[in-house]
Amino acid sequence: MTPALEFRAVVKSFREGSATRTVLCGVDAQVQPGEVIVLLGPSGSGKSTIVNLAAGLDVPESGMVLVAGQDLAGCTERQRTLLRRRRIGLVFQGYNLIPELSVHDNVALRGALDGVPARQTGTAVRALLAEVGLAGRGHEFPDHLSGGEQQRVAVAAALCHQPELVLADEPTGALDIATAAQIVELLVRLTRGRGGALVFVTHNPEYLRIADQVWRLDAGRLITEAGADQAAPP
Ligand code: ADP
Ligand code: MG
Repeated sequence: MTPALEFRAVVKSFREGSATRTVLCGVDAQVQPGEVIVLLGPSGSGKSTIVNLAAGLDVPESGMVLVAGQDLAGCTERQRTLLRRRRIGLVFQGYNLIPELSVHDNVALRGALDGVPARQTGTAVRALLAEVGLAGRGHEFPDHLSGGEQQRVAVAAALCHQPELVLADEPTGALDIATAAQIVELLVRLTRGRGGALVFVTHNPEYLRIADQVWRLDAGRLITEAGADQAAPP
């Protein structure tokens, strides 16, 4: 099976004034289709750097990043944009909705960008809004929704095109505990239901229970281990 995501000897540094800080010093990891990865690490350890590289929003200094078998370094900027739009779903801490668009249109946006006719996406969008608990709310605008509801819309928007890889960078960081747990449950259920893989970045070790694999960043190294789901007896 082609991994949904693969890092091969990935190195990434950033300049800090006259010095260079190596954030990732040779990261190797694989995500299989359908797997849930929980990525943990202290603030500044490189979690968002991993997400940005996986999304093709940044490029490694050396090593390779492959999404569904495609080497991102071999893509043009335009190809990376299309790959992100069609095969990747992104969820961030800030909900990243477009305030001028209705809830329905926020979810339908990627399809619209790809030229899919609105009548074709309409049914899927309504079904997805129902799945995230926002049935009949498609005509509303993001600023009328609570934070948790906005994040539900963002999850629906990230999942609408059935991406192979969903990257969620601290998606619960701005939410209370109960709402956060609901968002995580939704992300896992919707991603799995569509056969996709999920990389979920969090500070909260409570979520280790949902992991097929746990990734921990420590001093530029990525330590991978089987998660609770894998270690559990059959
Ligand atoms: P995390 O998400 O784990 O908090 P990040 O991946 O955002 O960590 O950042 C890791 C380190 O890389 C930090 O020291 C941060 O300052 C640095 N860094 C991240 N992005 C950039 C950038 N675009 N330019 C310079 N330094 C950066
Ligand atoms: Mg971060």
